[in-house]
Amino acid sequence: MVKRMERSYKYDVIVCGGGTSGVSAAIAAARGGAKTLLIERLGTLGGQMNVSGPPGFSYAYLYNERGERIIDGFIGETHRRLLEEKHARPTDMNEYRSGSNYIFSFVDPEWWGLLMFQMMEEAGVTLLLHSLVVDVIRNGNEVTGVVVENAEGRVYFESKVVIECTGEGDIAVRAGCDYELLSREDSEPQSVCFTMDGVDWDKVLQYIKAHPDQLVPRGDAKRTPEERYELIRNVKDIGELGDMLGFFDIMKEAKENGDWHEYAGMGFFLAPRPDADHFQAHFQHSAQVPNIWSCDPWDLSYAEQECRRQIVMAIKAFKKYVPGFENAYLTKVGMELRLREGRRIMGDYILSRDDVAAGRRFYDCIGKNSFAAGAVHVATNETIAASKDGVVAPPDGGSYDMPYRMLVPRKIENLLIAGKHVSAERAAYQRFLQETMVTGQAAGAAAALCVKLGVTPRQLEDEKYVKQLQEILKSQGVILDGVH
Ligand SMILES: Cc1cc2nc3c(=O)[nH]c(=O)nc-3n(C[C@H](O)[C@H](O)[C@H](O)COP(=O)(O)OP(=O)(O)OC[C@H]3O[C@@H](n4cnc5c(N)ncnc54)[C@H](O)[C@@H]3O)c2cc1C
Repeated sequence: MVKRMERSYKYDVIVCGGGTSGVSAAIAAARGGAKTLLIERLGTLGGQMNVSGPPGFSYAYLYNERGERIIDGFIGETHRRLLEEKHARPTDMNEYRSGSNYIFSFVDPEWWGLLMFQMMEEAGVTLLLHSLVVDVIRNGNEVTGVVVENAEGRVYFESKVVIECTGEGDIAVRAGCDYELLSREDSEPQSVCFTMDGVDWDKVLQYIKAHPDQLVPRGDAKRTPEERYELIRNVKDIGELGDMLGFFDIMKEAKENGDWHEYAGMGFFLAPRPDADHFQAHFQHSAQVPNIWSCDPWDLSYAEQECRRQIVMAIKAFKKYVPGFENAYLTKVGMELRLREGRRIMGDYILSRDDVAAGRRFYDCIGKNSFAAGAVHVATNETIAASKDGVVAPPDGGSYDMPYRMLVPRKIENLLIAGKHVSAERAAYQRFLQETMVTGQAAGAAAALCVKLGVTPRQLEDEKYVKQLQEILKSQGVILDGVH
């Protein structure tokens, strides 16, 4: 039986939000010896991973284009644990994707969600679910706790360090942090995801092999179209493809017949059920709405409605036009919008597009990343486009460092930010799963170290303390050194 934790209103570390960054932060803080409380507005953990998800590529980008492992630690630990239990698939370094960092290490998101509860218990994190953090308690510029609304009413919690992992920065903004927010028109679209089962994968594969030019190609960008087509013709297992976006001719026909909408291209990702050696089709770009601010509930309400209209249309179109989907059926609609873009909280360092392009190293590296800067999602039939400045990747298929200072918000003390709203320019937006888990783990370990040393998160930026943080992260398997 799960041990009931002591009811307490005083903690070393409080984590607000239990998405991918929040769970990583809470576990790292507790492992660092801090008395840790994780507060989540829903009754479950995981956020965009398994609640409003699953993500199409969970996980990807753990390797750089040269095929070197660059990200491990918490995310690697969860992949290995799920692999042992047959709820993950081994990293697939197949020929089709080789030469790119878009390499999949599939995990089953539902089992991932269950694992999170198990890991919370193992680490000794106290959970407070069904509770909305509504504000911070402040003494001048120092955060000293959080205010929560739940069935008990308004409740106050004291904490030495607060980690803001709400994804949207709602609490950081209430604490007085600086942030950047694009205009509605410039923000990426927000989406509701859905999943279908009952797909005849042999038929899908047959169609794709016969029409390789109908897919958005993956893998080494230096390959000619014919080289890519040949790789697709040689695919043996649908799993090697991982995602199938395109279906250009089918989409054109469906659009001409009024059966497809103008907000997204056609396509889906494979959602794995490894223990059953089975895939479901997961759609995360087929219902999406532009001009929606993630911090405007009126916008969000409209988008929830419009996405559901698009989902109905998309399911009907797939069943009618895409070979293999004739008998497919809906199995899951994400319970709420997945918010792609909102505020970024400005910190002591703002990760830039130039840092990505230069493969920059920082003294306070807390993790590596190879994700390119400058690609954006758009709500058109193109789905993904380059920003006006174009896309840049680290040189030679390598990586860049993620600095600790991007987790430390300017001006406000005792607060750390982890997750997709960390301090970065729009082009260098750190929003994918692996990035949110890297920042989450680092923030959790840093918060626990601050408590132990009696310093603030900003004081921890000092090289002598950062070195200690890096030793802790390395002992947890985080990759910080090497040629990469
Ligand atoms: C459509 C779409 C597709 C994507 N596909 C992929 C993909 O295939 N692969 C990939 O790697 N990444 C993908 N991403 C990105 C990735 O899934 C997310 O950016 C990432 O999971 C965000 O993690 P997070 O911890 O910052 O936020 P979230 O996962 O959103 O977690 C925030 C948590 O905080 C809670 N919360 C919020 N406010 C409060 C509050 N006031 N009080 C208490 N709790 C609160 C929420 O309930 C939630 O649990 C996708 C994103 C979108 C939108």
